[in-house]
Amino acid sequence: MIATSDAATELAAIRPPATRAPAIAAGEYAARLDKARALTERLGADALLVHAGASLRYFTGVPWAATERMVALLLPVRGTPSIVCPRFEEGSLVAALVIDAELRLWEEEEAPTALVADALPRGATVAIDPLLPFAWGERLRGLGLTAIDGAAAIDGCRMIKSPAELALLAEAKAMTLEVQARAARILRPGIAASAVARFIDDAHRAIGGTGSFFCAVQFGRATAFPHGLPGDQQLEEDQLVLIDTGTTVHGYHSDITRTYAFGRVEDEVAAIWQIEKEAQAAAFAAVAPGVPCEQVDAAARRVLVANGLGPDYRLPGLPHRTGHGIGLSIHEPANLVRGDRTPMAPGMCFSNEPMIVVPDRFGVRLEDHFHVTETGAAWFTEPQPALDRPFG
Ligand code: ZN
Ligand code: ZN
Repeated sequence: MIATSDAATELAAIRPPATRAPAIAAGEYAARLDKARALTERLGADALLVHAGASLRYFTGVPWAATERMVALLLPVRGTPSIVCPRFEEGSLVAALVIDAELRLWEEEEAPTALVADALPRGATVAIDPLLPFAWGERLRGLGLTAIDGAAAIDGCRMIKSPAELALLAEAKAMTLEVQARAARILRPGIAASAVARFIDDAHRAIGGTGSFFCAVQFGRATAFPHGLPGDQQLEEDQLVLIDTGTTVHGYHSDITRTYAFGRVEDEVAAIWQIEKEAQAAAFAAVAPGVPCEQVDAAARRVLVANGLGPDYRLPGLPHRTGHGIGLSIHEPANLVRGDRTPMAPGMCFSNEPMIVVPDRFGVRLEDHFHVTETGAAWFTEPQPALDRPFG
């Protein structure tokens, strides 16, 4: 199934899924706001201020990238939410807005932080999105507000995915798995990593995603570097291939890695691949509601240590966390890493990618994602079956 086709043939064969996961419904946005209000009140704040980016999209439907101009949701614990936005952007913002909100529009010469302060009682406490620029928090303090960390209110909502979110995530991940399988078929000696990445981007679009959100195509020694090396590479016979890529569906991310042999690779690579497979399986088996996230990381590392790798972040071994939360952001809380004691709960979604790096020689990363269920975990995509068989 590796190296049996070409890019044009594979692209022509791609079809988007026959039935698509529906977009998030209006009622679900209302429920998100209600939950955020309750969590904000629990923090002792009067309102939550959410910065442009994935969290703004989560609460309002507006997919606005953060810039130096303030676009933000101000959600009072009681009362109508409002959106702070440059006046000249009103039309674009309203076209994407799916919740009922007042608009607080500012002209280029005005300070949007003053609009936030004006909307609240004097001396109010605002829970602030941790991604909001520090300087804006300082200005709000200067205007007499008390600013506190709003991460618990935002993450408390976003970490737990609804059935509609799980369906969108599942769709994105199924797309990327198929794109990965088709990418393996176009490999041939001499193909450039950039050509494979271009194909993956085209294929992600053809299958109904938004192109590649990111794409790493690494051959041979480059696989030893978790995020690759600069420059383009050409595939040679008997090299290890590592491809990590993802797309989005309604903003929800996929992110899947496959590491496989193009031809024959050394026995040592095969042995490390097998340990990686066991570590990924051990992490998955450790998942259950109530289990602290860090225990999943520990489960993967125990497999490595039992095989003489590590310990901790020492190489040869696992140089980074075992996994990250995923949703509207590719990396979001909570994380599968020592020190993150967030108890797992049904609806949480994570990557499982306890990569093994043999310094300067090669690396093996198997990355699939799972969601926490009432009894354990469920894979979004089935893990790689074998070193020479990247797909089931
Ligand atoms: Zn990845
Ligand atoms: Zn990842």
